[in-house]
Amino acid sequence: MEQVLLHPDRLDLPDLAAYERAGGYEGLGKALAMPPAGIVAEVERAALRGRGGSGFPTAVKWRMVLENPSPEKYLVCNANEDEPGTFKDQALLLRAPHQLLEGILIAAHAVGAKTAYLYINGRFKNEIAVMTRALSEARDAGYVGTEERPGRSGIEVRVVESPGLYIGGEETACLEVIEGKAPIPRQKPPFYPAAIGLFGQPTVVNNVETLSNLPHILARGADWFRTIGPANNHGTRVFCLSGDVERPGLYERPMGYSLRDIIEKDGGGIRGGGTLKAVFPGGPSLPLLPADKIDVRLDFDAMKEAGTGLGTGGMFVVGEDTCIVDIVHGFVSFFEHGSCGQCPPCRLGTETLEQIVSRIESGKGSTADIDAALQVCRMIERKGICHLVTAAVQPVQSSILHFRGEYERHVAECACPFRRVKAAAGGRR
Ligand code: SF4
Repeated sequence: MEQVLLHPDRLDLPDLAAYERAGGYEGLGKALAMPPAGIVAEVERAALRGRGGSGFPTAVKWRMVLENPSPEKYLVCNANEDEPGTFKDQALLLRAPHQLLEGILIAAHAVGAKTAYLYINGRFKNEIAVMTRALSEARDAGYVGTEERPGRSGIEVRVVESPGLYIGGEETACLEVIEGKAPIPRQKPPFYPAAIGLFGQPTVVNNVETLSNLPHILARGADWFRTIGPANNHGTRVFCLSGDVERPGLYERPMGYSLRDIIEKDGGGIRGGGTLKAVFPGGPSLPLLPADKIDVRLDFDAMKEAGTGLGTGGMFVVGEDTCIVDIVHGFVSFFEHGSCGQCPPCRLGTETLEQIVSRIESGKGSTADIDAALQVCRMIERKGICHLVTAAVQPVQSSILHFRGEYERHVAECACPFRRVKAAAGGRR
């Protein structure tokens, strides 16, 4: 099974020399010998799509910045990763720092940026230390730095720590933080980063996993990359499997891999031999799939057809003995706390939604509350400057659609039925 980003030969290399012996910085060498437009064309041929959530074609974003006549451009690596159940970027930062740095330099060169920012979650103390050391090594070796001569990138890389909040990972909020301001998303339009980004200049914001693919695409070529995964969904994806599975963890699998296989074969199925109830395949910000809908390919297009998405690669599995209302309440609370508050539908709507789901979960809700939750979802969806408010409604809507009976049991029994069963089981022991 093809492993690219987490290939054992590329992980946990103690220093730059070890990374170079494993073929590191070959991709950058090739990129520096190519015109920027040639690199963009190669990445376009590879059909690389962004791994931050949306799956937007990387080359399309790059070309907008490359073709902008502004003399000043920026590349930002977004390493904020703050969604529950998502930890792949942290692993890549910690275990393959030079792979990421090489990707940052390739991308910056491709779009004509002379300064790149590594925007990293301020809570990732170990990752910051590892990246700072790798950056120092790369600077000493001449890969990083403003020196303009053949074989040198001429690109400076700066590290900026984020405040460690979910909203700080929104692409325009991260530009605000780098500019020294609070993490508040900008209105789009007009503030699309590719046109008016960092310090008002054209800016590419790419995710850690996206950038980590570039050394491989440049070193081995787009044709090789296209051999992995189905059409328009090439390469691998690093999935973070968590929840009620026997073997949670990181699994790098080719795009198009089976959702059922990652849960049952890789994850070992539900803990203790239990039965699957549902899975949030793209993290808490996308709709869940019930157990009878998991025969689906893990790629951007197939997941969209299935009514959900790949998202950040955080895959949360729910077993039959876990209360779905409780899980959804946790997700809604997370988004409520994460709202920056500048849009009233988000500020008030997520708060109201949290209160309703909390009431139902604790057994104090009514049937009218279930319909009220759906009504609030309809009122606030897509009514914010950023995606957070839309993300918050996804777990609520999809769980009521597929598990309305579970909500109704909370109402009818005036309590969480799962908590009651667990308490009874505990009492017998
Ligand atoms: Fe802030 Fe929510 Fe508006 Fe996003 S949708 S900008 S988080 S208030």
